[in-house]
Amino acid sequence: MRCFYHQDKEAIGTCKSCGKGLCPECAVDLTKGLACRGHCEDHVRAVIELVDRNITLQPTAARLIQAGGSARLAACRTFPQQFCPAFEQEGEV
Ligand SMILES: [Zn+2]
Ligand SMILES: [Zn+2]
Repeated sequence: MRCFYHQDKEAIGTCKSCGKGLCPECAVDLTKGLACRGHCEDHVRAVIELVDRNITLQPTAARLIQAGGSARLAACRTFPQQFCPAFEQEGEV
């Protein structure tokens, strides 16, 4: 794959936002993904931030479940996919 901006250069990866091929000169490494230098940096930063936020939601819900009672029920309703199976397994309603 070639760099989208430099057709004569080999791409080292793709932009996390627009998916274009990027050479070392055009890629900005934002640790968890590459972005087009001067084009997609802000957007990729926002995407990474959003993903990080979603990941940190899980420990919060786990704490709610440990708390028991209505907090537990609320966590189950808020995160049904992750927590309802565990909730039901314990046979508590
Ligand atoms: Zn891009
Ligand atoms: Zn390039």
